[in-house]
Amino acid sequence: MDTHMSFDTSRPAPAAAPRVNAYNPTYDPLVSPPGQGQDYAPTYWVATAGTPPEDDGPIQGDVDADVVIVGSGFTGLSAALTLARDFGVRALVLEANRAVWGCTSRNGGQGQNASGRLYRSQWIARWGMDTAKRLDAEIREGFEYWKSLVAQVDCDAQPGGHLYTAHRQKKMAFLANEAQVMRDVFGYDARMLSQAELRERYVHDHEAVGAMHEPDGVGVHPLKLAYGYLRQARALGVRVHPSSPVLGWRRDNGVIALQTPSGVVRARRVAFATGGYTAQGVNPLLDNRIMPVLSNSMVTRVLTDAEREAAGLKSTVFITDTRTLRFYYRLLPDGRMQIGSRSALRGADAQHPRHLALLREGLARKFPSLRDVEVAYSWWGWVDVSHDMMPRVTQPDPAQPVYYAFGYGGNGVAFSAQAGKRLAQRMMGKDGAPWNLPIYDTPLPGHLFAPFRRLGQGLLYRWYHLRDELL
Ligand SMILES: Cc1cc2nc3c(=O)[nH]c(=O)nc-3n(C[C@H](O)[C@H](O)[C@H](O)COP(=O)(O)OP(=O)(O)OC[C@H]3O[C@@H](n4cnc5c(N)ncnc54)[C@H](O)[C@@H]3O)c2cc1C
Repeated sequence: MDTHMSFDTSRPAPAAAPRVNAYNPTYDPLVSPPGQGQDYAPTYWVATAGTPPEDDGPIQGDVDADVVIVGSGFTGLSAALTLARDFGVRALVLEANRAVWGCTSRNGGQGQNASGRLYRSQWIARWGMDTAKRLDAEIREGFEYWKSLVAQVDCDAQPGGHLYTAHRQKKMAFLANEAQVMRDVFGYDARMLSQAELRERYVHDHEAVGAMHEPDGVGVHPLKLAYGYLRQARALGVRVHPSSPVLGWRRDNGVIALQTPSGVVRARRVAFATGGYTAQGVNPLLDNRIMPVLSNSMVTRVLTDAEREAAGLKSTVFITDTRTLRFYYRLLPDGRMQIGSRSALRGADAQHPRHLALLREGLARKFPSLRDVEVAYSWWGWVDVSHDMMPRVTQPDPAQPVYYAFGYGGNGVAFSAQAGKRLAQRMMGKDGAPWNLPIYDTPLPGHLFAPFRRLGQGLLYRWYHLRDELL
């Protein structure tokens, strides 16, 4: 037996494999072990997606599999779909909680032609023109692939592009430069809108002094979309096992042995797609490689026609503003407003009312007439941010048949489709794909001061606030 890595036997394994446990709102991946069988967060999406699709129940006993995927969000399901559809491989998906429990059931549904937190002008600055153009071709192809999946699922898709609103005058020059780069270098029809045009055609955001509109962008009901992925995958023979957290792995006679509370799953190849919910100690190749960052979201009650008119809401096109700690928002198809932004640093603090108050205040600044509107849903989730702000889909150690796809930095609704597809291709040894791109040819970078990251995050939040609002 070659014991490359060993199970963390200090972690107490849950005794049984219950199907649904209470949702834990204070879950924190940096300090908590993986959950087990937790119910969904109380999101608007969960309330309106309909009955969850069938799954295959918790893993019972020891199991052998060719390919195992850990995590059943957009990424894991997209990988499973590609494996089944393009390679005839029926993967086994292990999910700690309920199917599609993580960020995939909690996000803003803003499908952008992007990935990671860097703008295209920053790609050029970091890697040069040639790489930036090849990266653009890859992300663009991924966006088209995602749209082809969206077209197959009834998920309230709202095309119309994406608006970047300048929340201060000084941000207009930044947006104008980005629009020019999008147009002149990458050939997109990105356009600047004056404040008057923005108000006339889209939205009367009282902070916005103008905006950039990019035509690529589709708002979706993320959970309906994910349930669509899940149904399609299972129809192709994929098995999805909720309430089956992976607690650790080791190499055992040439296979990867994954420890779950109810048995060992032995696989020839394994992919981790556990997003911002990656607990420390489960996969040493991932420890300290992802910064889990809490993001908040709220949805109001349905606004009346008169309220929408008074607020100047004329479009369902989705919007982000130019703050580093940005607000994202949109008018949902049923007439509610959704808005989100940053949240607590730690899970233990996630329920503090000041985080919801930050969203309410953000909404009121943008739409004063909505200051006292009733909030019908409020929730949060852990976003996977990489230490260099860009994702990775890779095999970090060529000696181990263990792969991962991570680090979308709050931009994973669309890109996770391509990431999952590339993850599957990578596991199957496919040539010809653009593996020499920076998001594919290196592992996630670590962080020198990993144990103190939250301290640094707190200081950064203060600095960003100062820069966003005052300087
Ligand atoms: C509030 C909020 C708003 C957002 N808004 C947007 C947006 O508008 N647009 C956008 O592009 N992106 C947005 N995002 C980010 C987007 O949701 C994510 O990038 C995307 O859903 C990531 O999908 P994933 O499959 O990689 O990870 P997740 O959906 O997080 O799935 C990971 C899964 O792995 C499981 N897991 C973890 N550990 C284990 C283990 N040890 N064993 C088994 N299973 C495990 C978890 O339970 C979880 O279900 C938002 C995120 C949040 C939280």
